[in-house]
Amino acid sequence: MCYYCSMIAEVIVDITNSMVDKIFDYYASEDVTVGQRVIVPFGKRNIQGFVINLKQETTVDEEKLKNIISTVDDYPLILPEHIEIMHFMVKKYHLRFVDCLRLFIPAQLRSENVKPLVKTYIIVSGDPQKFKKTVRSNAKNLLALCEYIKPNQSYLKSELVSKFTQSAVSKLIENGILRQEKIEEKRTPPSIDIQCQKHKLTPLQQRAVDEIISDNSISLLFGVTGSGKTEVYMSVIEKVVQNGKNAIMLVPEISLTPQVLSNFRARFGNNVAILHSGLSVGERFDEWRRVLFGEAHIVVGARSAIFAPVKNLGVIIIDEEHETSYISESNPRYNTLHIAKFRSEYNNCPLVLASATPDIASYQKALSGEYKLLELPKRINDKPMPKIQIVDMLSEIRNGNTGMFSSALLFELDKCIKEKHQAMLFINRRGYSSFMRCTNCGYVAKCTDCDVTLVYHKKEDKLKCHYCGKRFKALTICPQCKSTAIRNGAIGTEQVVSALKEMYKDVPIFQMDNDTTRTKNAYQRILSEFGKSKPGILVGTQMIAKGHDFSDVTLVGIIDADQSLYHTDYKSTEKTFELITQMSGRAGRDKVEGKVILQTYAPRHYAYRFIANYDYKSFFDKELNIRKNTMFPPFTTILRLLFSSQNEEIVRETTKLCYNDIKHLRDEYLEDFVYLDAMKSPIRKIKNNIRYQILMRIKHTHENEIIDKIYKICDKYNKVSVFVEIDPQNLS
Ligand code: ADP
Ligand code: ZN
Ligand code: ZN
Repeated sequence: MCYYCSMIAEVIVDITNSMVDKIFDYYASEDVTVGQRVIVPFGKRNIQGFVINLKQETTVDEEKLKNIISTVDDYPLILPEHIEIMHFMVKKYHLRFVDCLRLFIPAQLRSENVKPLVKTYIIVSGDPQKFKKTVRSNAKNLLALCEYIKPNQSYLKSELVSKFTQSAVSKLIENGILRQEKIEEKRTPPSIDIQCQKHKLTPLQQRAVDEIISDNSISLLFGVTGSGKTEVYMSVIEKVVQNGKNAIMLVPEISLTPQVLSNFRARFGNNVAILHSGLSVGERFDEWRRVLFGEAHIVVGARSAIFAPVKNLGVIIIDEEHETSYISESNPRYNTLHIAKFRSEYNNCPLVLASATPDIASYQKALSGEYKLLELPKRINDKPMPKIQIVDMLSEIRNGNTGMFSSALLFELDKCIKEKHQAMLFINRRGYSSFMRCTNCGYVAKCTDCDVTLVYHKKEDKLKCHYCGKRFKALTICPQCKSTAIRNGAIGTEQVVSALKEMYKDVPIFQMDNDTTRTKNAYQRILSEFGKSKPGILVGTQMIAKGHDFSDVTLVGIIDADQSLYHTDYKSTEKTFELITQMSGRAGRDKVEGKVILQTYAPRHYAYRFIANYDYKSFFDKELNIRKNTMFPPFTTILRLLFSSQNEEIVRETTKLCYNDIKHLRDEYLEDFVYLDAMKSPIRKIKNNIRYQILMRIKHTHENEIIDKIYKICDKYNKVSVFVEIDPQNLS
C-alpha cells in the first residue's frame, strides 16, 4: 500500500492499436480528479491515460497495484457527462473505450503536436521620456525606442525587437520601463464579413421558438426550404444564452458554408466556436479549448461537434436531421441522434430536429406524439415554391433525342441565359454506376427476394443484392422488352460541363464535385465566382443541393433523377425525395419565380408525383406503408455485425460460429427475428482485411434484450475485429 495515496483511480490507457480495452486501477494522490489526463506505468512503458472514476476500494491485488506517475494538465479534459456518454456508447454500439476517447478529445491534443499559440507582449510601465534623458547620444536604437513607445501602451515584443534590436528592449526591461507579459492568442477560423440583419419573427416562427423553449422535449421542426428555420435557431439560441446556458447546433458538413458560419458570427460574435473537419490543427485545438473553458457558449459544427465539451447545455439543434452524414460509418460507428438524445436527457434541455424533408422515422415519431411537431409550411413572404416539371427521358429517346439534355431543359436554359439569370444543374451521384437499366423501357434489375435494386459488380460481371447476398447474371437483354440497350453507370459532371461549354461559349460554367474541391478553399472560390456570374451555370453533385442562398438562380435542372431512386437500399426512395426537394429549394429564392426540370426514365414513379406537388405527407403515408409490409425500419431495427481479419480462414470460421450462436438465440425469440443470415460482405476486402457479415432485422418488442445477448455472443470471438452497425445507411 502506498502511504501517500488514499484513492484508487480507474484509468483508460490510451493505446488504440491494442486488442485489450480494459479499465485499469491505479493508486492516485489526492490532487487527481476525474477526467484528468495522467501518465501511468503500463507493462515496461509509461503511457498516457485518462481517469474516468475515483473510488475507495479495488478488487485488484494491492501488491500489484501501481501509482499514477503524474498528471499532464492541471484541469480535467473529459467532463463527467462525457464519461457517461462513453459508457452509453460502449454498451449501445459494442465499442471500445479508447475509440470513444478519440471523439471527445482532438487527436492533436492527445499526441501533443500542437501547443497553444503564445505571444510575448511588452507593456510600457515606466516613463520612457524621463529615462531617455539618461541615455547617451550615440545609443541611437535605444533613443529611438524611447521615442517610439508611449506610456501604458502595449506592443508585440517581436515587433519592437525587429525595429530597435533586442539589446535596446532588454535595457528598458532591466530598468523597469518595460514589462513583459505572455498572452495566449486563440487561432479562430476565418469567416466572411456580412451584414446579418435580425428579422422580426413571423407569428409561425415565434410560435416555434416559444414551443421549443417552453420545456425539455424533442421537437421536429418541419419547415419547407426558405421558410426561415435558421432565424428560429438563432432566436432559440439567443434566449438560451441569455439564460446563462450553452448551445450546440449541428449542420451537415456539406452545408457548413462560410455563409452559415458568418451569419452566426455576425449575430453572436466571439461567443461562437466552430468545429468541423476543414479547420487547421491549431484552429481546432483552440476552438475546442474555448468551449472547454467556457469562453464560447455556442458551438456550431458538423457531426462530431455533438461531442463538444460544452457544460450546462440549454439546447441542441440538428439542422437537416434527415442527412445520412449524421451517421458515422467507420469506427467508432454511432448515430448522432442517439448521442443528442442522451445529452438532452442528461442536461434536461430541449432537442430540435429540423428539416424540409424529415426522416421517415422522425416524422412517424412526431405523428405519434413522441416528438412535438412544429410546422413552417410556407416560404417567408409567401414566395411560391418553384414549379417542378417532370420530363420523360424515354419519350425523348423515342423522339430522336438521345442526348443528356431534354428539349424542355434546353429551352429553359436558353431562356435563363438570355435573361441573364443563373442555373444550377444537378448530377445525382448517390449509388453511382451501381445499377443496370434498360434505356428502351426503363427496366431495372431487382432482387427477387428483397425488392431492392441489384448492385452491378464490374469485376465479376455479376449483379448482387446487398441485403441477402444473392447473385444474379448481369443483364445483356432486357427481360421486359428484349432490347439490348442496357446501360450501367451514370452521366458524370465533366461530361455535362463539356457539353455545356460547346453550347454556351461565352457563359461562365462551373463544376463542383469531389474532383474540383480537393483543395481547402476551392469550394468557397467556386461558389463566390458563380455568385458573381450573371448569367452563369453551376454543375455539381449533391454538394450543391444544400443550404445555398443564391438570389438569381431561376432554373434548376436535375439531369438524371433516378440515380438515387435505384440506389440499392430500402431508403433509396426516401433519399430521392429528400435530394430533389432540397435541390428544387435552390430555385426562385428571390424576386423571380423559379423552375425545376426533373429528367427521369420512370416518370410515373410515385416518388416523383409527390415531389412535383411538394406533398411530403402523402409520400410519407405511402412509404411508411411499404416499410410496414416489408418489415424494414422504422418497424424493425437492422443490425449488421461486421467481421474482419487478414486471415480469411479465421474470419469465415468465426462468422460461422457466431452465426450458429445467434441462430440458437433466434429459436428463443422466433417472433422477433424477421431476418437472419450470414454472408461475405459486398465489399469483400478493405485494406487487406477480408470481411464477412451477419445481417439481421429485429422487431422492437425485445430489441434491447436481444441486442445485449448478441453482444455477449460477439465477446466470445475476439480473434477478429467485430464491428456493429445499427440501422446502417450503407451495406457495402
Ligand atoms: P430555411 O433555412 O428554412 O431554408 P432560411 O432561414 O434560409 O430558410 O430563410 C430564408 C430567407 O428568409 C433568408 O434569406 C432569411 O434571411 C429570410 N428570413 C427569415 N426569417 C425572416 C423574417 N422573419 N422576416 C423576413 N425575412 C426572413
Ligand atoms: Zn427493356
Ligand atoms: Zn435480396
